Amino acid sequence: MKAVPPKITRARERFTVLMLIAALAGLAAVVFRFNPATHAFYPICQFHRLTGLNCPGCGMTRALFALLHGEFLQALRDNALGVFTLAALALRGGRFVCNRSAGRPNGEFFPAAFLWPLLFVACVFAVLRNLPAFSFLSP
Ligand SMILES: [Zn+2]
Repeated sequence: MKAVPPKITRARERFTVLMLIAALAGLAAVVFRFNPATHAFYPICQFHRLTGLNCPGCGMTRALFALLHGEFLQALRDNALGVFTLAALALRGGRFVCNRSAGRPNGEFFPAAFLWPLLFVACVFAVLRNLPAFSFLSP
């Protein structure tokens, strides 16, 4: 017997999108209010703690804090890949929501074809930011 996926109604989809936006806004408000450099309740990177190396996400909370305070260059210094990824996700998310609300056809939010290139770029970024010649990429 073939399983039938649950029907997602438009109202449920809107509710989900609104809850996602509310959760992201709440997280942004916490990061805006509490500087990650001076408050210890933020989770620390376990990869960095164990190896002393920077992962692709290291510095992302500080970059978000800088972005939220309008310090774009500091955000790039903290995590350039994260800033560009956030910008791309925000643009994609905005386009996705606009298309959906206008009733226009929409593709996937994050096409699977983007996954491998993004993973490759993240790996290259992780390697480069741990090399002395590219220390400007370290947070
Ligand atoms: Zn990390």
